[in-house]
Amino acid sequence: MEEKEYLRELFSLPRYALASRAIDLLERSIGSQIYLRGIIEVSNICVKNCSYCGIRRDRKDIYRYLIPKQVVLSLSKRLFKSGYHSVVLQAGDRRDDYFIEYINELILGIKRFSRRQMRIVLSLGEQDRDVYKLWRDSGADRYLLRIETSNPSLYSFLHPEEGGSGFEKRRACLLTLRELGYQVGTGVMIGLPGQDIDCLVEDVLFFKHIGAHMIGMGPYIPTEGTPLYRYVDEYDKEQVIDWSLKMVAVCRLVLGDVNIASTTALDILEPGLRLEGFRYGANVLMPDFTPKEWIKDYEIYDGKPESSADYCLKSLKDRIAWNDPGDPKPYGSYSFISGDQ
Ligand code: SAH
Repeated sequence: MEEKEYLRELFSLPRYALASRAIDLLERSIGSQIYLRGIIEVSNICVKNCSYCGIRRDRKDIYRYLIPKQVVLSLSKRLFKSGYHSVVLQAGDRRDDYFIEYINELILGIKRFSRRQMRIVLSLGEQDRDVYKLWRDSGADRYLLRIETSNPSLYSFLHPEEGGSGFEKRRACLLTLRELGYQVGTGVMIGLPGQDIDCLVEDVLFFKHIGAHMIGMGPYIPTEGTPLYRYVDEYDKEQVIDWSLKMVAVCRLVLGDVNIASTTALDILEPGLRLEGFRYGANVLMPDFTPKEWIKDYEIYDGKPESSADYCLKSLKDRIAWNDPGDPKPYGSYSFISGDQ
């Protein structure tokens, strides 16, 4: 059966059937342990103007911050000591020398205090190859850059300022990151205006073809004060819930042993949904450790600052892999489940 047709068929199954197949495969491949990454949102300053995002450049009603380096370093040290062996540094896109050096010093500092044991994941948007290389040479291990949607025309609709080349540029960043030896994470938003099942099928194939080691995706949350909010009446919450959970299961079935996160936005859509993600084959939890003082201003979507991963940690406590960096299997070791199974 043709791959796309097979994928469409998976999406048409009831989601509980997909869940049990995904969990079965997870247990037979990488096992049921859950890996942790502590996330620190180091800055909400952003030069981009993405139409869906609450920290877009044109959003004037939020306080812009950069957390002092020493604060990030001592927080990372505390995380490491408490069993988090992966830290994610996330921020808006910024390409100036001051920021590049700030990140570089954080990478060197974290590697120093952890004797190179702590994995560093960067989620800092689109950068030049030289910058990606500098950070990689200093010790960054992974990079998270969502493609947002693999559909080029939907992508340019979401990023009108970037014209037709925006999608290619983002794709090229992912390829550069792979070439530089990063473990690469990508993902999409689910429930975007104009998106359909065929888009999601293409998204899964994109993850496969780009050779992603990690998938971090989640529902799109309409956010007031952003241009895309004008489509809020078309938003079908029940459908977004269904598609979001199905995406986790389908990715597990098609991509095998990649790491898949169950993300915060699921809980915004409906409290408890992030835990549900682990019943559909997710195996990564990313609790947010941005200090209170700043987290309230990292509102990429409405409702985010109040959410917490504590209830997931409690419910999943027997499966959590403490003190484990949770490296992905070398890409390509998974077995693709073909259409005739
Ligand atoms: N600047 C970085 C990372 C910051 S935002 C980058 O662009 O990669 C991290 C992610 O938040 C984005 O990749 C996007 O997928 C998600 N996001 C932004 N606005 C959102 C919204 N309204 N609903 C759901 N997710 C959103």
